[in-house]
Amino acid sequence: MRLALAEAGRAAEGGDVPVGAVVLAPDGRTVLSAGHNEREATSDPTAHAEVLAIRRAAAERGEWRLSGCTLVVTLEPCTMCAGALVQSRVDRVVYGARDDKAGAAGSLWDVVRDRRLNHRPEVIEGVLADDCARLLTDFFRDR
Ligand SMILES: [Zn+2]
Repeated sequence: MRLALAEAGRAAEGGDVPVGAVVLAPDGRTVLSAGHNEREATSDPTAHAEVLAIRRAAAERGEWRLSGCTLVVTLEPCTMCAGALVQSRVDRVVYGARDDKAGAAGSLWDVVRDRRLNHRPEVIEGVLADDCARLLTDFFRDR
């Protein structure tokens, strides 16, 4: 999560909402990829930290399935990212701050653990939640 927080800081430098993500290999230690929100930087509405990290991890592994991998992200995934996480077959999603307005991993929706879907990653929330949330509140206060 410290690495994801560092990624989030890079998003803010580019004027993007500070959200960062990393994908860990099945050993739980090796960092396969990282990503931060680049919506403003690339004018791409889908350039969320999780989507970028998932794409890079799949490229690194040379396959789209990220079975056994863990995605760590500073903010609860939105519906798009939750869908991408299900599609990527990651085993585990770890997030920091909850997103009561748009979260899709337990707050507003729970897409990743929807029993109607055939893949449901484990979800661990609240890791360094205060640090993750503080980045966001500082960012919006400064704007
Ligand atoms: Zn998202």
